[in-house]
Amino acid sequence: MSAMVQECRSCSTLLFPARLFCPFCGGDSFSLVAVGHGTLEETTTLSDGIVLATLSIDGGPRVIARLTGPGAEEGQIVPLTNDPNTTSGLHAYIPVHSTLNEDHS
Ligand SMILES: [Zn+2]
Repeated sequence: MSAMVQECRSCSTLLFPARLFCPFCGGDSFSLVAVGHGTLEETTTLSDGIVLATLSIDGGPRVIARLTGPGAEEGQIVPLTNDPNTTSGLHAYIPVHSTLNEDHS
């Protein structure tokens, strides 16, 4: 299980959400890389029971994700997914971003 995030082809910075230009080097060419997990930093429970989490990705950005499954604790390594219907255990769901400026060749 993993989630796709944008990687700058010039400086290899991981970016989420997707950008038109790299904020670090100004590059505008990106590829998609799979990220397996993030470290849970903080959670917020909304009034309807949805749990949002801030996770840090190794060597990359912080992402805001929706937690699925029980038992999340700060500092825990949580698998990332692009599948909103993941039902087996604890996952952090982030939406598939748009494909602006991606070179699929
Ligand atoms: Zn860059």
